[in-house]
Amino acid sequence: MSRHKEFDFENLPRASKDIYELRMKAPDLTGLAGAVRTTCGDTITPDAISDAIAARLDGESLSIPVLAVKGASGAGKTLVTTAGVHGDEYEGMEAIYRTYEALDPSNLSGTFVAVPVVTLPAFWQATRANPVDGLNMARIFPGSPSGSMSERLAALMLEKVFRHADLYIDLHSSGRNNAMMTLVGYASLGRQAETARAAAECFGAPLIWEHPKVSPGRTLTETLKLEIPSLYTEARGGGAAHPDDVDCYTRGLANLVEFLGMAKLPAAGLEADYEPLRLCGDGDVDVSMKSGCSGLFFSDARVGMRVKQGELLGVIRDLDGTLLEEVRSPRDGVLVMFRTNPRIFAGEILVVVNA
Ligand SMILES: [Zn+2]
Repeated sequence: MSRHKEFDFENLPRASKDIYELRMKAPDLTGLAGAVRTTCGDTITPDAISDAIAARLDGESLSIPVLAVKGASGAGKTLVTTAGVHGDEYEGMEAIYRTYEALDPSNLSGTFVAVPVVTLPAFWQATRANPVDGLNMARIFPGSPSGSMSERLAALMLEKVFRHADLYIDLHSSGRNNAMMTLVGYASLGRQAETARAAAECFGAPLIWEHPKVSPGRTLTETLKLEIPSLYTEARGGGAAHPDDVDCYTRGLANLVEFLGMAKLPAAGLEADYEPLRLCGDGDVDVSMKSGCSGLFFSDARVGMRVKQGELLGVIRDLDGTLLEEVRSPRDGVLVMFRTNPRIFAGEILVVVNA
């Protein structure tokens, strides 16, 4: 049973604030229960997860919520934001809800469009990848209208949502297994570079990370092809939504609303004495330092600390206590990300150190 109108950017009414939905062909959930059983927590049954996803099924379609606010004049810029591209990253979701609640169409010049939980099945399973097809949504853009669920969802997001943006920000955090510095990142390439840099500077995150290139498959990879100034965020994560990070993202969205001349929200502004750390690098966590063995990782490192090449960052032990691996910094730099879940398999990310 349909609860909201289908999202159609071109026909959003002026002076409106409403919840819509993106509709896509319902995924086949029959294989989900088996896939979930091996990875979910011990109090959540596969049926509960399937039922939660099924609650947004309407006959043959799955609905993804979209929140949209359009100003009275119909003029102005469009800010598009997403969260939940990965299902275990929550800060952006709450920041989006707060921003939507704070926006008043009668005082808005422009349009705010937000998809708070992009990969619904991954949210209910609390996983990075989409359990329906096992794909990482942030590696498969632009997707395909005839592909698997993740690929179809990526294509739908591009067509129905992203391409309308004057500025796009994809709200991530480090997910259940890692910790990451709270940051805003942007790509310094193409004609959008200067606008993206200015937007990143006004967001208000403790770290601003400039990337001279963007790897294939990301949401930003495609928005940059459309020359849309594009940002993303990361935060401590660890399966939680730290209140400070939710506040940072909420303030950041308010700052972007103001940056685009759309409105002035109470949450806007910068912390007193705001002086971010600025880094430049490829920022691709896929090429981080990986574990060479499986076991138990312990580290007393903290994200944001400066480290020296060769400095001991942690150890990996076998379950009988045998030291398997000493984890040492690959270079001088800042510890941007590291593993917080002690159980680690060979090949999983240990640390990211940015020069
Ligand atoms: Zn993510």
